[in-house]
Amino acid sequence: MPPTDRLYYHDSFLYGFDARVVEALDSNGKTAIVLDRTAFYPTSGGQVHDLGVLSADGQQISIIEVADEEDGRILHFTSASLPAGTQVHGSVNAARRLDHVQQHSGQHVLSAAFIRLFDMPTVSFHMGEESCTIDLETAGLSAAQAQKAELLANEVIAEDRPVSIRFVPLEEARQLGLRKLPPKQTGDLRLIDITDFDLTACGGTHVRATGQIGSILLRKIEKVKQGVRVEFVCGLRAVNTARRDYTTLTEAAALYSSHIYDVPEQVRKSLAESKVSGKAQHKLLEELAAFYAERLLAQTTGSLQVITEFFPDRDAVFIKLLAQKLTAGKSAVIALLASGAGQPTLVFAQTPGQKSNMGQLMKDAMAQLGGRGGGSADMAQGGVAAGSTDAGKLTSLLQETARKL
Ligand SMILES: [Zn+2]
Repeated sequence: MPPTDRLYYHDSFLYGFDARVVEALDSNGKTAIVLDRTAFYPTSGGQVHDLGVLSADGQQISIIEVADEEDGRILHFTSASLPAGTQVHGSVNAARRLDHVQQHSGQHVLSAAFIRLFDMPTVSFHMGEESCTIDLETAGLSAAQAQKAELLANEVIAEDRPVSIRFVPLEEARQLGLRKLPPKQTGDLRLIDITDFDLTACGGTHVRATGQIGSILLRKIEKVKQGVRVEFVCGLRAVNTARRDYTTLTEAAALYSSHIYDVPEQVRKSLAESKVSGKAQHKLLEELAAFYAERLLAQTTGSLQVITEFFPDRDAVFIKLLAQKLTAGKSAVIALLASGAGQPTLVFAQTPGQKSNMGQLMKDAMAQLGGRGGGSADMAQGGVAAGSTDAGKLTSLLQETARKL
């Protein structure tokens, strides 16, 4: 089977074409069609595949995925099969293609900018549904460097430099000082030439001039194993992303009744305030626990004071504090406590040196309640899913545990 004639190699803006089905096959349970020629781009070189339709005899079938085979054939995964020999008309989804063209050409400009400014080569390119990334081979990238590269890339876009495609033999390509040479290649190399800025080998679809990229916006910068990953968006994606960022910021600013530029300061203030009030609340909770502890200890007598109590409106933090207060004194105390607010929680504790095993008692209790927990001989905690138990069950479990002591 001869390789598919790739029409997109010569014209990235060819959205309609006529072709003939040369093979209809089943690839891992998926219907696939091979055409003698195609304008549909297959997923390769970081760029994702095109979508569109094939029309034949008034029938339309959808292109679901397009894949590149090692032998040079292009597989069109389709919603239905067509027999070999069928004449078809292919229509490429133009909006999706233009978006991919903008991202891919934008990537070439950006990668060249990083080389020119900081000698940072691009080792990989990934085009996602929302944003794209390149991985730079470098130990680090500062925010200022990223901004510089973004500025240079946008200047090159504004200069509207012509972008041409040409095919040259490998030997000739070696002399041209390409930004990137593919690892293994036979036959001619396809070169993408951004006039006086970047020359590289690539099989993707590209703009006619850099102005078509529209704009490029750098976003997240993160360290990865092989260097630094730079996220970016080009063209309409950049506009849509900026629109979404603005909407998000506006929403946040409205919550603070402030200007969007003051949001970070407002959040900082808010966090500081909540930290202060959190501390104050904890202090109050400690005081409350101390008060409860005193009252509960006064209500029990004996050489070993066993206290069982369920607090329907308190949470795990409170009963833990209370258990600590109850068992911190000189007298021998065993506290079997439960809380009902949030996730129902049990805390068992004893004054250090007593002979019971709280961890074991907790395991037994959890086995009955279907929860998880454990701990040491002196202090154990366990919890069950919210709504899986009730006050009656918890109270009787505490009493039953107390009887085992
Ligand atoms: Zn490329």
